Amino acid sequence: MSIALVGIGKIARDQHLPAIADSDRFALAATVSGSGGIDGVENHADIAALLHARPDIPAVSLCMPPVPRFVAARAAIAAGRHVMLEKPPGASVTEVFRLERLARAAGVSLFATWHSRMAAGVAPARAWLAGKRITRLRIDWKEDVRKWHPGQDWIWQPGGLGVFDPGINALSILTELCPGALHVAEAELTFPANRDTPIAARLTFTDGAGLDATADFDWRQEGGEIWQIEIETDIGALKLTEGGARLFIDGAEQPTAGCGEYPALYRHFATLLAEGRPDVDTAPQLHVADAFLLGRRVTGAPFHD
Ligand code: NAP
Repeated sequence: MSIALVGIGKIARDQHLPAIADSDRFALAATVSGSGGIDGVENHADIAALLHARPDIPAVSLCMPPVPRFVAARAAIAAGRHVMLEKPPGASVTEVFRLERLARAAGVSLFATWHSRMAAGVAPARAWLAGKRITRLRIDWKEDVRKWHPGQDWIWQPGGLGVFDPGINALSILTELCPGALHVAEAELTFPANRDTPIAARLTFTDGAGLDATADFDWRQEGGEIWQIEIETDIGALKLTEGGARLFIDGAEQPTAGCGEYPALYRHFATLLAEGRPDVDTAPQLHVADAFLLGRRVTGAPFHD
């Protein structure tokens, strides 16, 4: 199936292009890029031009930042195209609900991707956790924003999510491991004095029965990133490290298998198209929205790139 890639930035180049190039289900037919696209691939300056010029391309994958994504997704759905959304699926939760309704009405597939759920350790972790009672949960998702988001102004603007841009990856794993089991009870969000989104956040979750569960997101990390989730249960403990790539049970590393996060996303998109259904899970985004609703705001030092 032909597919068009929209927004040729860091994630499109690092992950989407190689995943499509290796895919036996998709072929890159065009790009939409305001900055020129990719050598040798037909490019359109905006999505309206693509949709008009290429009615033969049935699917688009949207890789731009969250704020401009809704308008592009709505246009693609209205033009009868299947749509894959980078995470987070939108700048607000309501716009994602609207897109899902529009896609269902138009009879096209909408896939709100969560790449971290495809990390190799996540499926075996979920299988191991099934039927166990969680007694303690710690999420640490800490990285150096200067290393991972150099010069990306949109992450500091309203709708850009700040430290929740990576933090939502941890929440996507959490909501895959134990769907519906917890909700945010308290949050503290640290905003640089000169920015509109947080540089750090601490979330406390509750299960309504005294569970000790917290998440620490921090963009001021130096000396190597920490992307890990530790869960203690009534009969053992698991730890996911490296963003979910490695799984340890009671300290022993477990064998994992997987084709890579983005190849797995494109395989799943192909399955959704074959089965004619959407996959839109807003659970990770709802935790973020709750953190913003409940969070105490702390003003921190100004941040300069
Ligand atoms: P980025 O490097 O800033 O690139 C985004 C691209 O989107 C830009 O290069 C531009 O492409 C296009 N774009 C920017 N502003 C736009 C606007 N107002 N309207 C239309 N298009 C616009 O960002 P990114 O890191 O690739 O992140 C994009 C999305 O992927 C985010 O939602 C992010 O959370 C997600 N993601 C990023 C990573 C990562 O490691 N960076 C990992 C996983 C997921 P053109 O110049 O081609 O028009």
